[in-house]
Amino acid sequence: MTHSQPLHPLLTEQWQQICMKLTQDFGEAAFKSWISPLELVSVENGCVHFNAPSRFMKDWILAHYSERLCFHWVSVMPSLTRIEIGIKISSKPAIKLTDNQPVSSDLIINNEESDEDREGMSAALDSRFTFENFVVGKPNELAYAAALRVAESETPLFNPLFLYGGVGLGKTHLMHAIAWHIKKIHPNRKVIYLSAEKFMYQFIRALRYKDTVAFKEQFRNVDVLMIDDVQFISGKDTTQEEFFHTFNALVDNNRQVIISADKSPADLEKMEERLKSRLGWGLVADIHPTTYELRLGILQAKADGMEVKIPKDVMEFLAFKITSNIRELEGALNRIVAHATLVGRNITLDTTQEVLRDLLRSNDRRITIEDIQKRVCEFYNVKISDLLSGRRLQNIARPRQVAIYLSKIMTSKSLPEIGRKFGGRDHTTVLHSVRKVQETCEKDREFSNDIDILRRSLEA
Ligand code: ADP
Ligand code: MG
Repeated sequence: MTHSQPLHPLLTEQWQQICMKLTQDFGEAAFKSWISPLELVSVENGCVHFNAPSRFMKDWILAHYSERLCFHWVSVMPSLTRIEIGIKISSKPAIKLTDNQPVSSDLIINNEESDEDREGMSAALDSRFTFENFVVGKPNELAYAAALRVAESETPLFNPLFLYGGVGLGKTHLMHAIAWHIKKIHPNRKVIYLSAEKFMYQFIRALRYKDTVAFKEQFRNVDVLMIDDVQFISGKDTTQEEFFHTFNALVDNNRQVIISADKSPADLEKMEERLKSRLGWGLVADIHPTTYELRLGILQAKADGMEVKIPKDVMEFLAFKITSNIRELEGALNRIVAHATLVGRNITLDTTQEVLRDLLRSNDRRITIEDIQKRVCEFYNVKISDLLSGRRLQNIARPRQVAIYLSKIMTSKSLPEIGRKFGGRDHTTVLHSVRKVQETCEKDREFSNDIDILRRSLEA
């Protein structure tokens, strides 16, 4: 690497003049893309030296711009005879990863590219989407393990890694986590993360400006390429074609490719057969719909992160009721926390049900109080008529309390409504039953398991 002396001010000024002329010659865009990345190093013995940030840039400049470059130089410095372009990998520091990184950052970080190269190809990385913040459970353990392995390995293990699953289940979170992790442990590796839509946009733009070579070049030195939501390029034939080539070139060069989609490769509609089959070559890891346990774990983690204390029954209730996806679950939690802060009241099951009424309705899984009563009676082998009666025998009172408890956490019925369905009991009795079950669960493991089994059987 040459160690360059500071340039003479006169030289800098001449170079600025030449740059203005080159902008007039080639237009702003070309100037910005190709000429401004050039670093003027020195002028010696009739030769002007530049450094370009990559070999490709150098070749391209020599092929397309050197003539005008010479022309303008000679007009300000008639003694010049030659232009030389070296390659200098600039040592820009990679973006520093810290825990309290404010929002998002430019992702394409490596030691070889200038800002101009990065422009347009960058994609925001969410600082919260890390492996540390990812709660692992049965539905996502395979995807998580695969993502972590890929992030840790310096050579591709499974190529591509194909992550798929429904909306809001953590695909993007895992991809960002991979990117952050690589940045941390292998800061020199070049990682590109972008959505399929962005890939498509960039490509179409390159076609329009007849700049597809530059487009391709952006991917050439990538170590890890991640394309999120690849289903968006289905049916877009030219983009698919380009994607296929980019993909093959990288895989053939032993670079890691990571893809996400909402469906498995085979189920991607309007996707070319050869592309589908190629996408399925590596490891295909699906993220299943969430389970109660995972939802509860995520809620706990998020509540801890927000440093708010949320009653256990509220957490359980949310984990039961908001089953659609994790994004919605987070949204629900944020809403009740925001509400409690704004109105200055504690978070309770009742306020939660009130605040989330609309959301709960759309997530309603239509488990009725009658379903619960029936299942509980089967389980404890008691008669429905006894359950609804006023009898206080322990072997009846216990199942009744359980049924009331489950009605409270598995439906969005209010305490008085539940009371009515249990032989016209009043709401304080209902509340007492709910508390009693919660207390007993804490102490009695077997009892707590029974509740779990009942809940699952109703949920299934
Ligand atoms: P997708 O890309 O699959 O649609 P996202 O990755 O955007 O889903 O996830 C939606 C939201 O849920 C994000 O805020 C993400 O942080 C959160 N999330 C998803 N899975 C988990 C998990 N296992 N642990 C913690 N948060 C998660
Ligand atoms: Mg996503």
